[in-house]
Amino acid sequence: MSEYQPAARVTRIRESASVLAAARVRELKAEGRSIIDLTVGEPDFDTPDHVKLAAIAAINAGETKYTAVTGTPALRSAILDHVESRTGLSYGPLELTIAGGAKQVIFTALMASLDKGDEVIVPAPYWVSYPDMVLANDGTPIIVPCGDEVGFKLTPGALAAAITPSTKWLILNAPSNPTGVVYSRSELEALAAVLQDNPHVYVLTDEIYDEIYFGSGRITSLVSAAPALRDRVLVVNGVSKAYAMTGWRIGYAVGPADLVASINKLQSQISSCPSSVSQAAAAAALSGDQRFVGECVDAYRIRRDVAVAGLNSIEGLSCISPDGAFYAYVKCAGAIGKTTPSGVRIADDVDFTAYLLDAASVAVIPGSAYGLGPYFRISFATSLETINSGLEAIDKAVRALN
Ligand code: PMP
Repeated sequence: MSEYQPAARVTRIRESASVLAAARVRELKAEGRSIIDLTVGEPDFDTPDHVKLAAIAAINAGETKYTAVTGTPALRSAILDHVESRTGLSYGPLELTIAGGAKQVIFTALMASLDKGDEVIVPAPYWVSYPDMVLANDGTPIIVPCGDEVGFKLTPGALAAAITPSTKWLILNAPSNPTGVVYSRSELEALAAVLQDNPHVYVLTDEIYDEIYFGSGRITSLVSAAPALRDRVLVVNGVSKAYAMTGWRIGYAVGPADLVASINKLQSQISSCPSSVSQAAAAAALSGDQRFVGECVDAYRIRRDVAVAGLNSIEGLSCISPDGAFYAYVKCAGAIGKTTPSGVRIADDVDFTAYLLDAASVAVIPGSAYGLGPYFRISFATSLETINSGLEAIDKAVRALN
């Protein structure tokens, strides 16, 4: 046994619940169990061919060396053009950072800005990683519960009440993982009015699912709704979800040049640069044919409608229809307090999801991982066949409760 003592930052944080859930499903499958996996946090589509070919061409052209910390000129200009088309705002090269995934961008942005005692407002339900990333970087997450009575959205009143002189950041995420909710322009304007009165608060807006939107037109970014805030908004995005490129690891952010310079300084000591081959692929994804994105969204929309209708038809479960991303956040209050056929009382969503895995072989993630129970998250980034068998198995398991 080694004498290794983990640093305090390691003992302060949890491992990502979604990464753990995926590992558990792999483990059960390896044991020979057939699991209906509704935990998946990535598109089930393959990366488009023109993107793969761009990566192969980059390899053959010898683009296999370090690049600038800030990425290749081709990727930088593809991102800046893409951001301008989505936000209507033009950003310069000094306002852009590129990293190994949006996850790394967010982590480094927090590392670049937080000191002990700094607070970060995180509306719940939240993407599992935000509070732990704040803790790992010495900050204090301030969790603001945003339940279904407010449509899972942060209200201006709740934002104002959470802000203190120590607030450094507000983290917004839309379309949201896990709820799929999207803020309208007027909702963003109302939040922006509170932020105008609090010039010390920066906003990290995580728009990684912005292309996966079921409404008409495009989602509105906070910077588009409130360009006056531009000097303290970091817009985070990446190619993982829109282009089915989770394994390529390219994410980026645009924001104020001084903050971006600090992030890039850290990046120069952390990774030097993201993978050169992945950068070529990401440039091709962002500047190439966009039809793939629309085709995926059409498929997700069909699956969403099947999943939401099915879940709402199960007694004791209910969910709203998500506006974007590929998740439904399902209320399971009706199952809490009931008893399983083997005599176990279900006290919370962790018990309920454990029961689903045990009795119905359906894997979902408990709402407690996202900071708001009693809920669970299902992903519909999987085939209609898997979704339908999942619904059937959940229905049967719920009916068996007493
Ligand atoms: N933000 C949210 C809300 C996410 O769901 C994810 C991926 N699960 C990320 C960021 C990270 O994406 P990337 O693959 O670019 O690191």
